[in-house]
Amino acid sequence: MRYSRLLLPTTKETPNDASLASHIYLIRAGLIQSVGGSGLYNFLPLGKKILDKVRAVVKEELDKAGCQEVSLSFVTPSALWDESGRLEKYGKELLRFKDRKDNDFILGPTHEEMMVNLVRQTVKSYKQLPLNLYQINLKFRDEIRPRFGLMRGREFLMKDGYSFHSSTEDMLREFALMEETYKKIFTRLGLEFRVVEADSGAIGGSGSKEFMVLADSGEDTIVVCNDCEYGANIEAATCQPKVYDTHTACKTVIKKALYDEGKSLCVGFVLPQDAELQETKACNSVDANDLIECDTQQSPSIVVIEETLGAAVDPNAFDAEEINYADIVAVQEGDTCAMCGGALRYTKGIEAGHIFQLGTRYSEPMGTHFLDENGKTQPMVMGTYGIGVSRLLAAIIEQNHDDKGCIWTKESAPFALQIIISNIKDDAQVALGEKLYEAMLSLGVDVLLDDRKDRFGAKMSDYELLGVPHAVVIGKNLSEGKVEFVTRKGMSSIEVDADGILDFLRDTL
Ligand code: ATP
Ligand code: MG
Repeated sequence: MRYSRLLLPTTKETPNDASLASHIYLIRAGLIQSVGGSGLYNFLPLGKKILDKVRAVVKEELDKAGCQEVSLSFVTPSALWDESGRLEKYGKELLRFKDRKDNDFILGPTHEEMMVNLVRQTVKSYKQLPLNLYQINLKFRDEIRPRFGLMRGREFLMKDGYSFHSSTEDMLREFALMEETYKKIFTRLGLEFRVVEADSGAIGGSGSKEFMVLADSGEDTIVVCNDCEYGANIEAATCQPKVYDTHTACKTVIKKALYDEGKSLCVGFVLPQDAELQETKACNSVDANDLIECDTQQSPSIVVIEETLGAAVDPNAFDAEEINYADIVAVQEGDTCAMCGGALRYTKGIEAGHIFQLGTRYSEPMGTHFLDENGKTQPMVMGTYGIGVSRLLAAIIEQNHDDKGCIWTKESAPFALQIIISNIKDDAQVALGEKLYEAMLSLGVDVLLDDRKDRFGAKMSDYELLGVPHAVVIGKNLSEGKVEFVTRKGMSSIEVDADGILDFLRDTL
């Protein structure tokens, strides 16, 4: 590709609403463009190219693992979501609308119902199982706070996969295979990540793991052990139970729990004075769709007591219809690891992938059955597996950038090499640049030739901003038979004989 022909609107200006490096550089490097409303983006040519490269890695590894790609309709009939019972539960993130005939639709935020519907019409026998179907397609979630560019958009690209099995055992085998496959994907993309235990959220089911890209800017807090492999999202983290006596000081946190059909309940959560309520655990403990602040001072109809408090709290002290015990506190730094006794600490991560064991959560309500070897009708056992493909672009930059711009990893880079002609008026520089460019193309190297009339300084700033892993700079030293080979990471450079540069590149790239 010739830079002079490329639509790559780089800019020195930082967008007003951007604080994260990935958000700033994706826009400044001319890779994406914000579209009016928040959380919506256009991908410009090189942004699209990087997205396609990441997508290709995801697809290659999934296909190798025996998954099959499909493409499902983005617009989903609401009736399917009624069948699973999620139409009520999903809340305001779900964009609902009607067509001209007054039929109800949603824009798919995830596609369990749609895939289940596909499979129940096409798979009837155990002989057709197992099956792992996926797509890499748009999703829409009307996020309450879209922010950080591609990190939390409203429209975004997700790989969502769904597996169907004749037994739980077989689903667990596939779940383990997907864990390994995801590790390969994130490793190929050059990411430092950690697989952690996770909460299962609105999708439902049990047994789930998240793939966290480690970065200080990550929105998720993960609890990790200093001494062993234990890692969990704080929403699901546990520690060795603490022991409390009857003198323990406690507090009650009041919340409003939201349920289907606009129902709500006032709930009191009782926990040790120095502990912190973990909202996700608390929400799960009362099977609510969401917890919000309670505006009234009404007395709670349900009381949930932190389970480790046990006899330290007298349940008769509460005038509630229902009293339950559950794990509702957030693990703190310094708590003891339940696996090995080591000390737990916090770190930050970006959730790049999530795999779930779904069981029959969707196949039962949606009537997705098969005939087993004995001719008996059984519900299919399912797993579901997601990767935030567009979020990955942001995650890669969060881990790989400096104060000048992006530093793409090998498999995500928009080009393998950039050739920079310092002075386009110098015939010798142009001749060498063109010759190298043609040679690289014929070797199958994806190369960008900076053949613009701009100043050298501007070309180098654009190089640093875009972040192609390597560059050949053809400058003044060419009169002494030398060119420079630059590595974007660290901006280190070495002088290479112009005569030998082709061989050098052939060996290096
Ligand atoms: P989060 O907790 O970050 O909102 P989630 O638990 O809602 O994520 P899933 O429903 O598991 O996410 O979706 C699968 C993957 O899609 C996530 O692991 C994440 O990488 C990506 N993803 C989810 N929401 C967004 C979003 N708003 N913008 C970009 N990617 C997203
Ligand atoms: Mg979410």
